[in-house]
Amino acid sequence: MAAIPASDRGRRFVVLIGAPGAGKGTQSARLAEALGLCKLSTGDLLREAVRAGTPLGRAAEERMRQGLLVEDDVILGLVREHLRTPGCAGGAVLDGFPRTLAQAEGLDELLAEVGQSVERVVSIEVDEEEIVRRLSGRRICERCGRVRESAEIVAPPEPPSPQVAALPADGVAAAEVCPSCGGPLVQRADDRPETVRRRLEVFREQTAPLLAWYAQKSLLGRVDGGGDVARIHALVRRELT
Ligand code: AMP
Repeated sequence: MAAIPASDRGRRFVVLIGAPGAGKGTQSARLAEALGLCKLSTGDLLREAVRAGTPLGRAAEERMRQGLLVEDDVILGLVREHLRTPGCAGGAVLDGFPRTLAQAEGLDELLAEVGQSVERVVSIEVDEEEIVRRLSGRRICERCGRVRESAEIVAPPEPPSPQVAALPADGVAAAEVCPSCGGPLVQRADDRPETVRRRLEVFREQTAPLLAWYAQKSLLGRVDGGGDVARIHALVRRELT
């Protein structure tokens, strides 16, 4: 067997699974920071590609808008490319990937190529009513792409910053500005109620079967995703020890 390059030894790959709105994005950012790993969110990478108007973004946009999954080979290509970036040298917290059995198998193959494997899979579990409530309040910054949970949305500073003052008066509610950059906060097209229902269905049908698959490999931990962000972070960390 080929020797494992020294740089690949000890890399950590942790997967967070959860329905849309379960808090994977928030928790994966915290976890990645705490462990010194990169956060690899396929949803963020796709949205970046859509914003930049790349061929991949143009191909993915319609499926995303409809709440359907983007094709497995496109996703696996994106992940392969991103895992090679220097930021992921120590490993990655995978957010929103894998979402299908084919992607999970593809991930195993990608990691096996560099002598690595998935260390742990943590399922963040929240009931559907709570998910619909959360997603209807969620906003994304049009300028910097950061997602804001409803509780984080803040009123603009007084007097408004130049960026806020420059917002179109009719396009965006005045209270909905990004706390980081002052950009306009908008609802993601796929956070609208009818699309949320589709995404939940897709999760149940295509992603939830991964839980049994990872449980069978003794890699799965489950945490209750309700309540305080710090408490959930502690529960996720406990699953990794
Ligand atoms: P997310 O931000 O993770 O909820 O992803 C938003 C949308 O991007 C999803 O509804 C899918 O259309 C697409 N997407 C993100 N990750 C994947 C993936 N691993 N496989 C297929 N589609 C994905």
